[in-house]
Parts: sequence; structure tokens; C-alpha cells
Amino acid sequence: MFRENEKEVIPEFHELAKPAHALKAHAPKHGDTAPCTCCSPAFSALVHDANWDEMTDPVAWRKAGESRDVFTPASTVIFANAKVITMDDNSSEVSCIAIKGDRILAVGDREDMDALDEPDAEIIDCEGRTILPGFIEPHFHFLPCSTMEAVENIGPFRFETVHGALDRLLELAESAGPDEWIMGRQFDPSLQEGPDLLTRQLLDQVSTSNPVFVYNASMHFAYCNSKALEIAGVTKDTPDNPNSPYFRDDNGEPNGVLAGGIAIASVAKHNPAGKTLDLVANSLEVVKRANSLGITLFTDQATGMTRGVRELDVYNTLAESPEMTARLRYSLSYGIQEKWDNYGISCGDGNEVVRCTSWKIVSDGSNQGFSGLQREPYLYRDDKGLPYVEPDVLKDMVIDRAEKGWALAIHANGDQAIDNVLDAYEQAFDRGLLTNTPCRIEHCSILHDDHIDRIAKMGLSPSFLIGHVYYWGQAMRDKVFGHAKACLLDRTAACEEKGIRWTLHSDEPVTEMGPLRCVENAVTRKMWKEPDTILAPEECISVESALRSITRDAAWQCHSDHEVGTIEPGKFADLVVLEADPRAVDPDEIGNIQVLETWMGGRRVFSNQSS
Ligand SMILES: [Zn+2]
Ligand SMILES: [Zn+2]
Repeated sequence: MFRENEKEVIPEFHELAKPAHALKAHAPKHGDTAPCTCCSPAFSALVHDANWDEMTDPVAWRKAGESRDVFTPASTVIFANAKVITMDDNSSEVSCIAIKGDRILAVGDREDMDALDEPDAEIIDCEGRTILPGFIEPHFHFLPCSTMEAVENIGPFRFETVHGALDRLLELAESAGPDEWIMGRQFDPSLQEGPDLLTRQLLDQVSTSNPVFVYNASMHFAYCNSKALEIAGVTKDTPDNPNSPYFRDDNGEPNGVLAGGIAIASVAKHNPAGKTLDLVANSLEVVKRANSLGITLFTDQATGMTRGVRELDVYNTLAESPEMTARLRYSLSYGIQEKWDNYGISCGDGNEVVRCTSWKIVSDGSNQGFSGLQREPYLYRDDKGLPYVEPDVLKDMVIDRAEKGWALAIHANGDQAIDNVLDAYEQAFDRGLLTNTPCRIEHCSILHDDHIDRIAKMGLSPSFLIGHVYYWGQAMRDKVFGHAKACLLDRTAACEEKGIRWTLHSDEPVTEMGPLRCVENAVTRKMWKEPDTILAPEECISVESALRSITRDAAWQCHSDHEVGTIEPGKFADLVVLEADPRAVDPDEIGNIQVLETWMGGRRVFSNQSS
């Protein structure tokens, strides 16, 4: 066990990393990959030399899929005696759905089913359970999740304290083979009680013989022990990259804290596991987990940031796999624009399983990382964050991409960044561009009334990272913005009132995927560390609206409303069967509702029989 008094000897984070220094460490450089909170060149370090020929061998996915329990019905299936929330134009509710092949055949009540000429139909008695359209995750990061799937999660949602996380690493070290790297991820000192930094001295207590390596949840920092530094050959004499330094002690010795992608990669690339990482098999594990949460479609919001254009090799292999039981939509990362343009891919390329649907731009950083671009300085500070793309460049980028036929998803967290994004969209509209496509603002975290008016007027659409309220609400109020501005976070109700279509997302690996958890967070606006306080109660949204945001409106935002998002004849049979109606339970329990079954394209891709 770790001794409590070790806390005192660990210097405070800000003593080692002055805020400006920390910002500089992950400030974007021209040509770097997209510097979103969730986007870091660190990911490529994990797959630095991986054998891509092996990775994309179809045999690999067959093997990976062997354990999947996917049921393909031989005949028409009728779900009867259910509470079906269709999410159609009239918000209809019915008791039966018939599916045939991969599509919905009919929706209605028992007599409508009896009128179908389907004598061989298999009838499933749903015993009054609730059926919704398959859930949609409109913003996450697929291959980063796949890359990290096998790395131990020691983050705050598993361990409330740093010592708890370190104890878990100790357990792993005890059963590790010689030379095996002990790897952890999701370390988050802003949410985990204890030391703010994992120095090499601290990680040497996990092991001195095996390398120990931990990623910060932001992926902009990592931490390693002395053995890992030794293997990487990082010493007092190793020069720093000015944008990605090794933190050091008073004697100039690296202290094990690695800031930014270059420093992280310089150590992580020595882990031989990176060479054998099978991204296809790992991706199928992510798909399986998504299905267990009721997800049938998800959108990667920065394709190319892990492995450049070669990520499409993984996608193409997945597209042909029978185990690819979630539909993947993806936005190309602007960070490698030239490579994409040379590759020759167009918006809309792909099919109903895997399809390229938009272009992603990151206009600023993250608010909790003090790099979101603000109108006014942060609380207790004089800085206003960073534009990752200057306003004029952003305008040009939007016009250029729109002229080339791309739909856009633009990340903006700070209020000034949102101003800049609105200006850029406005200019494109003035030129008659982007008029027939959802124009997304990702996170869209801090909204003033004037923003909301402009968003409504232009018909733009925000996607909210609702975990900002739940997980970081307290930090946003007390450390980042102060109370008044923190209340402007994720204003679902104000948007709803103006007729704006909006959605909720996890941004995994920033927070874990979980559509029902997102619904609960938006409905209650409670804060994890202060559950009795509601952050801006006037922004609490109805369960109905929150459910619409993870189905119908998310399908529209993900350019897939012609095929999924509602339960209507002709659409794909993508459904989720829930143990309870989210509208009928205590709002604090919505996130705990069991997903009993998930169906995608007429196949049952997840079943929780024990419930
Ligand atoms: Zn982002
Ligand atoms: Zn993201």
C-alpha cells in the first residue's frame, strides 16, 4: 500500500509546470495532429511500428469475432407487447415492431401485425419492456479507444484516489513477466485525490525492474518510472523539445513527467507491445462494448490523428467483418489535410456500415485545461486560452472545405472560440455554401444568449460533452470560470427553447461512452463530487428531449437520418430493448437502466440474458 504521507513530498503540479509552460507543451504546431483534448500524438506512439499487414489480415478479425454471440434470425421477427418509443415525426408510441432482413417492416399494434402476411414470423413477447431506436454516439474517438482498450484504466471512475490507482498498478506488477511494461491510462489529478503528478520516484514504488508508464486522461501528459526512462535513454543530458519537454527536478534530472506528444512518444515507443497491437481486434472489442450500452452507430471525430490515412485500412477491414455490429461514421481530421487531399477521399464515401460523413476542425483547446479560447480571462488568471486556428484562417478553411463538398464539425469550447466559429459559418452561408447539411459545433461548451440567438438564426447544431457538467462541473465553477460563467455550460434547455437541434456525446476517451448516463447528466445536471448541487437548474432538460438527442437528432447530425434514428418502416432495424422506460424511473437512476438487448441491421448483437 502507498503511504499517505507521500502526498507531502510530491510538489504541486503548478510548481513544476507553470500554466503557460503546460499550455505551451501541447500548443499546436503547424502540421501536428489535431490538438483536441482527446487528440494527442501520443496515440501514434502506441502503434509506432505495428505490423500493419498482420493487423489488417482478415483472419485476425475472424479470430477476434469467434466469441461474439450475434444472432441472425432466419425469418421475420415481431416484437410484441412492448412500449415502443418510435421517435417519429408525431412522437408515436406503439406496442409492436416487425423486422424483416435488416430493415423494419412494420410498426403498429397487434392487429397491424396480424394483418401482415408473415405466417412464419417469430413472435417475441417483450413483456411491456421499452424499445427505442438504437442509441447514437455522435462524437468519440474510435482508434484512440481501440489503441487504449488493452491498457489498464486507473482513472477516477474506477479509483477515487491516486493511491488506489497505484495499488492497482502494484497488483499488475506482481503478476507481470520480466520486461513487461506496466501500463495505465486515464490518470486524472483534477478528479483523483492525491498527488498531482506521478513522478518517477512514486512509480518506482510500483516497480524498479519493470518499466511503468501511465497516461494522463488528457493524453497530453504521461508519467514513467526510472526503468522506462533508462530503456528510452532519457537522461539529464537529453535535450528538450521546447514544445514537448521532460519535466526535471532541481538537478536537471528528468522526474518522469512527460509533457506533450514528442516526449511521450520518445518513451512509449520502446514498449514492444506497440508492435503487436492488433487495431482491428481491439476495435471489435470497442464495438462490442458500445453494443452493450445500446449503441448501434457512432461517429469518430478526427480520423487520421492516430495513424494518418492508414486508419482507413482498419476501417475497410472492419467494414467487411461480420462482427462490425455498430455503424461507423467518421470525420477526417484537419490536422493532416494535405494527406487527405492527396489520398482522394470524398464526403459520403462508404456504405451503410462505414462511411465518411464530414470534416473536423479544432478551433481551440479545452476549458478545464485552460486552453479553451475565452472572451474574458479565466478565473484567477490573466490568460484567455488559445486559438488553435486563427479566426481568419478558420474562415478560409470553412469556405475551402465547404466548396469541396464537405460537411463540417468544428470543435469550440470557449465563448470566444464559439464566436469565431459562428463568424466562419456565417461567411460560408453568405456565399450560399453549407445550406443543406447539419453544421455542427462540437462541445459548444459556453453559450451566452447572443450565441444561442445566432445559432438558432443560422440553423446550426451543437453537440454537448455533457460530462463537463457532471464530472468537471465543480472544477469549472470553482477553478476555471466562477459560478456565473459555469452556469453557461451545456445549455440544452435554452437551445431547446429556440428550436435548435442538439445532441449529447461522451468524447471517449475523455469520458466513457454511455448514452443513458449522458441522458441522466443532462436531465439532472448534478455534479459527481457534489451530488446535492444542480449546476444551472434552469438548463435541466426533459427525459423525452434527452432521448431524442441520442437517437433522432443524433442520426441527423451524423448524416444518417435517412436510414436510422427512428423506428419507422424502411429504416434499418437498429433497436435497443431496455429494462425500464427512462421517462418512468427516478432521474438519478436513468444511467443504471439495464440494456437488455441491442439489435443492429436486424441482428441481435447484444443480449443481457441474466437480467
Ligand atoms: Zn474536441
Ligand atoms: Zn473529441
